[in-house]
Amino acid sequence: MPDADDAAPGDVPVCSGKGCRAPAVWALVWNNPKVHTPERRKVWLACDDHRAHLVTFLEARSFLREVLTMEELRASESTSQPPPEPASESTSQPASGSVAAEHPSAP
Ligand SMILES: [Zn+2]
Repeated sequence: MPDADDAAPGDVPVCSGKGCRAPAVWALVWNNPKVHTPERRKVWLACDDHRAHLVTFLEARSFLREVLTMEELRASESTSQPPPEPASESTSQPASGSVAAEHPSAP
């Protein structure tokens, strides 16, 4: 009998709680000013059971920014999507040896 019953059902996000596989209901947006730039947003997902625990953890460190529902998180992500990174297209050409001499030629 296969015991692999953990095939991810579609793209259902799962709680960030340790060892928790419950579907996430909440999105805790946080930021650690010591390691993240202010605009950086980290998101922990939480089920109902773990929301309070994770909020307490983040609040104790003053990391918590906001608590959203998954719906609100999706809405906020769809409105503020970062632009896709352009393919690294190197247009810079290596300077080939001769740095132009700035001496005007004598008349
Ligand atoms: Zn959980």
